[in-house]
Amino acid sequence: MVLFGFGLLVCTSGKMVPVYTTDDLTGRFAPETNADFVPVASAYTVNATHMRKEAYEALVKMFKSAQRDGINLIIVSGTRNHARQTEIWSEKWNNLTHDPAERARTILEYSSMPGTSRHHWGTDVDLNSVEPEYFETSQGQKVYAWLVKNAASYGFFQPYIVHGDARETGYKEEKWHWSYYPIADQLLRAYKRMVGYELINGFPGSEYAPQLNVIEHFVQGIPDGPAVYNTRETR
Ligand SMILES: [Zn+2]
Repeated sequence: MVLFGFGLLVCTSGKMVPVYTTDDLTGRFAPETNADFVPVASAYTVNATHMRKEAYEALVKMFKSAQRDGINLIIVSGTRNHARQTEIWSEKWNNLTHDPAERARTILEYSSMPGTSRHHWGTDVDLNSVEPEYFETSQGQKVYAWLVKNAASYGFFQPYIVHGDARETGYKEEKWHWSYYPIADQLLRAYKRMVGYELINGFPGSEYAPQLNVIEHFVQGIPDGPAVYNTRETR
């Protein structure tokens, strides 16, 4: 095992693989002071945010390529840590009044329970708008068509595709949410090994996480990534 200044790497069969902590996986850290994260330039985001360096470099290449094709991409939400996700969750929770398990189910249509969001990982971004209606406009349709055609070339994929054979559970379709697969896949594998319901806490309604199967249905219930990256044997 080798320690680097920017994080922990472990050597498995000659290949260096990063080691993630449960704090990394559940968003319990500050992206601004984490050495694996870099700030996103203001030209690429509506609000100040950070991303993992490799994911950000790929994103910039994708944004520049889109620009050349006349498509403007911008981040409307990037990395959010556990504390930020707790603010979002709690505000929605407090604005609803029905039965608590149903409240959680309603919020989960589009928003994650803290500790289960891919936005904790520094690999995932919401682009242009988080309103489904935007993607029905001609502009939104053009943006989405460009992403569907080109994002995989830069390592990005849409984890929350429409429900169907490739994704049966979890959030409603999110045409705005794109994920940098090469790193996010490593994080997801680590999450499967390391995170259980005992780590899903610290917000109202967290006790409903197991009965709503948030780990199985909302974290793990995503389609395969871009085919070009899916040559590895383990999953
Ligand atoms: Zn998102």
